[in-house]
Amino acid sequence: MEYKQLQFTCQKCGANDLCYVKYVKCTIPVSLPPESGHVEYGQSIINEDDSLATLNGFACQSCGLLVEHCGVRLETEKQLIDYLKMEPFDRLHQQQDYKELLDAQMSAQERELYLSEIAAE
Ligand SMILES: [Zn+2]
Repeated sequence: MEYKQLQFTCQKCGANDLCYVKYVKCTIPVSLPPESGHVEYGQSIINEDDSLATLNGFACQSCGLLVEHCGVRLETEKQLIDYLKMEPFDRLHQQQDYKELLDAQMSAQERELYLSEIAAE
């Protein structure tokens, strides 16, 4: 089998550097000082042990954009490798299909909303 060099290219800024973003639970105390009419924030507390699995993912090191394919965030190495292994043409094609599907769903929803508004009048 031919070895294929994997390369990441950011869809937003075109950079090739990848990073892994691991969001950790960050707690910022909020206080409401009496009579002041505003909100005050204290020192943030980062809990490394309590990471939020849903917000982990590979991202562009340059602009921080999380890498997504067809609405799925790439969180595991397997997802990333599968994504990078894809031919750019196929990748683009899949993305376009996905976008069309989204647009179609969206317009169906909008149409329903429009019809329900008319019915309400
Ligand atoms: Zn980027």
